[in-house]
Amino acid sequence: MRNHGIGSWTARRARKTPHRLAVVHQGSRYTYAQLHDRTTRLAHHLRSLGVRRGDRVAFLGPNHPAFLETLFAAGRLGAVFVPLNIRLAEAELRHCLTDSGTSLLVHSPPFGAFAAASGVGRLVAVDDTYDKALAQAPGSPLDENVTLDDLAVIMYTSGTTGRAKGAVLSHGNLTWNSINTLVDGDFASDEVTLLSAPMFHTAALNMTCLPTFLKGGTLILEESFSPSRTLDLVEEHGVTVMFGVPTMFQQLAAEERFAAADLSSVRKMMCGGAPVPQALIRTYEKRGLRFLQGYGMTEASPGVCLLDAENALAKAGSAGVPHFFNDVRIADPAGHDAERGERGELLVEGPTIMSGYWGLPDATAAAFTDGWFRTGDVAIADEDGYVTIVDRVKDMIISGGENIYPAEVEKALYEHPSVADCAVIGVPDEKWGEVGRAVVVLAPGAEAGADGILAFLDGRLARYKIPKSVVFADALPRSGAGKLLKPRIRETYGTTDSSGAHA
Ligand code: ATP
Ligand code: MG
Repeated sequence: MRNHGIGSWTARRARKTPHRLAVVHQGSRYTYAQLHDRTTRLAHHLRSLGVRRGDRVAFLGPNHPAFLETLFAAGRLGAVFVPLNIRLAEAELRHCLTDSGTSLLVHSPPFGAFAAASGVGRLVAVDDTYDKALAQAPGSPLDENVTLDDLAVIMYTSGTTGRAKGAVLSHGNLTWNSINTLVDGDFASDEVTLLSAPMFHTAALNMTCLPTFLKGGTLILEESFSPSRTLDLVEEHGVTVMFGVPTMFQQLAAEERFAAADLSSVRKMMCGGAPVPQALIRTYEKRGLRFLQGYGMTEASPGVCLLDAENALAKAGSAGVPHFFNDVRIADPAGHDAERGERGELLVEGPTIMSGYWGLPDATAAAFTDGWFRTGDVAIADEDGYVTIVDRVKDMIISGGENIYPAEVEKALYEHPSVADCAVIGVPDEKWGEVGRAVVVLAPGAEAGADGILAFLDGRLARYKIPKSVVFADALPRSGAGKLLKPRIRETYGTTDSSGAHA
């Protein structure tokens, strides 16, 4: 076999563990031998539709074995897989398709109308015709020569700070990220991994599905998250690995049946995107369950740092230390190492870092400093090297020479009982250059005024960090992943003068 990419994994697994269960999805169960056979047939089918080496093949749909089959089949052909976020608006989806130059789109039936109008030349629907096409396609071996340096995936960033950019990830990037995850997450060969978070998200796919497959474990795929069903599935399948964002684990713990559910099979809960609140860590510890907390980004395939279960409480709030094969450093604005204990931009280097953004040479050049990828996140490290993410560089407010990190101010605002949601942005100021403004969504029925809210912060935050004005909003724009869309908030609330605001 001269295919060394992730497309070769099903063949390698089928050679070692053909009879082990690879995927379970609703009524379907496929062993590694079956998954490999389906992937081979899909690769033949895609080739008969004209897919060639380097072509982009996109997938649009909820969690489904066809997602993985398309990923692996594309890898067999040396084609590039483009996973799409089903929560994007149509215009955003069209941007991803056009920007990547996708020539074939595999989609679930509800996206049929969108796909037909998308302008993509060739479409494959995941319906009855999909299984028929697989049955009719040859099952004979086929593989292009693929090296670890070849392009595997174009994965779009979440678009939190601007337009989504396509991170170009190689087979090597994805392989090394899986190895980092296996090493630091201590994956065994008998893992039963439950995935109900959407697999078009980088962490779900690369920190959960791929490492499970690399070791020959079983993946239970759910199309959406339901706390009660999650408990059923854990008991039914003896789930050992769970993956999600903090709010999912919060909802699970709030489920009526949680206390009585048999969770004895669970070995690790992988959580990413934000630190897990201490109270939640304690709730799960009472059940003997521990979190592995990840920090990363699309451009890093995505794992950068991991906070292991043993240190979850001692180092609560931190993102842990870098993955085994990645390195990080904290730099001052000039790119030099920041003093220990000083804040600065987190830079990362290692075999999981993308080669660049698809079609964006300027953005790529700006994203690297001497071979180190600039994460765009402000971080601080403690004496043991544990990294805490403070905020995004782009969101930082510089007021009279002082740096204000909106995330810290927002955290304090959230403690106000009447604040349901909030965002802090910088607005131009003659005297200070820039000052903070809080955009607040009140809890239903709450009647707090700007003065009360600002007074609440007095004593909780240094004076210079307290916003100079408050504006009230009905709702704040958030991305599909729940992140505040600061550019939109700045656009809407950053230019209004202080009428309606409190100066
Ligand atoms: P875009 O790059 O398009 O603006 P994005 O940065 O939100 O969008 P992702 O790659 O999905 O796109 O998200 C990575 C970012 O998410 C990180 O740079 C960081 O700001 C945030 N993040 C991820 N994990 C954590 C974590 N554990 N703690 C705090 N922040 C995190
Ligand atoms: Mg980003």
